Amino acid sequence: MKAVVSINSGSSSIKFSLFAILECGNLQLAAGGKIEKIGIAPALTARSVDGETLLEREWPGGASLSHADLLADLFAWGAEHPLEGREVIAIGHRVVHGGTEFAAPRLVDPELMDKLEALCPLAPLHQPHNLAAIRAIARLQPGLPQVACFDTAFHHDKPALASRFALPRALHDQGIRRYGFHGLSYEYIALRLAEIDPVLASGRVIAAHLGNGASLCAMENGQSVDTTMGFTALDGLMMGTRSGSLDPGVVLHLQTQMGMDPAEIEELLYRKSGLLGVSGLSSDMRTLAASASVQAEEAMALFAWRVCREIGALTSSLAGLDGIVFTAGIGENDAAMRSRICLRLAWLGLEIDELANAGDGPLISMPDSRVKAYVIPTDEERMIALHTLNIVEGNSV
Ligand code: ADP
Repeated sequence: MKAVVSINSGSSSIKFSLFAILECGNLQLAAGGKIEKIGIAPALTARSVDGETLLEREWPGGASLSHADLLADLFAWGAEHPLEGREVIAIGHRVVHGGTEFAAPRLVDPELMDKLEALCPLAPLHQPHNLAAIRAIARLQPGLPQVACFDTAFHHDKPALASRFALPRALHDQGIRRYGFHGLSYEYIALRLAEIDPVLASGRVIAAHLGNGASLCAMENGQSVDTTMGFTALDGLMMGTRSGSLDPGVVLHLQTQMGMDPAEIEELLYRKSGLLGVSGLSSDMRTLAASASVQAEEAMALFAWRVCREIGALTSSLAGLDGIVFTAGIGENDAAMRSRICLRLAWLGLEIDELANAGDGPLISMPDSRVKAYVIPTDEERMIALHTLNIVEGNSV
């Protein structure tokens, strides 16, 4: 049976999923895994969809092993243990930045790689690792088609005003604009919502991707109209360790008055702020929820406040609101946080059904709530696999 693999290669981890292509053309998750702690002490695990461990490896002294080295190991294992006869026909990758040019996934070729390489300065923490995995696999399996799926693509056609900072035009023309991210997640949510509630999907919806990284996307008829992340994945909501939107004057102050250099500021804003910074305890919502600390409570309250404030802003971008969809780690699992957010949004005409919210969903608003609320699990890996299959076999997503 044929299969496609989706890969999400980050700075310290590579996640992979194998989807079998069924005879009807649908994709079925068969196995998945990750290589973690790259650069420290890499560890690899792969499990079948039934939870059976297929592979476990650790490299305690392997701090110098690169993404390419570790992928070579994974491929060597894959060659020795063909996954129940499945033949991988293509690999899809999450690529964070498609710049101003790419509004849809693309088959990888050298020309595309040059263009994506040129975008690395726009996403220095992510793009180089995404491309490293593509290059490594091109060396290991030169004939295997690879597809780049962009996190920015879903937002590519949002209105021009939602893409512009109030900066001199020349900077906009040099690419300093609001791109938006988490696009593969939002695209999947738009597809699923169209199946679950087609009437709502054709209306004005805010999708809330609340994980370690968090953003909102305002969608009208399944298309992105506005989003909280902008030039980088630092913008918008408060996140696990990222600050979200900040008065840019704070950054100037840190630099000029407090003597912090760019690397220190990057460390502060990306890794020491957000839930972790405010709570002084953890970036993990479960740890905060289990804590009696006043600071942990303040961090959770601020998280909900920021989400609601941005929902207010995006409601204005949409000129009204018909529904909200919660997704990702916090959005899918944290009923208390969903409740906090929905209660604060009562003024919008959202009435949460607390029983449904504590249950399995997907609808968590009262039957006569003017604004509906849903919980829909996201699946970026499946979206990547769908695009990959679409490109190599001409199916439509
Ligand atoms: P990433 O952006 O790394 O993919 P996830 O989407 O996995 O992140 O979300 C991670 C966040 O989800 C963490 O803050 C974690 O505490 C939270 N989370 C996961 N499961 C639960 C749960 N059952 N209850 C509350 N929060 C949860």
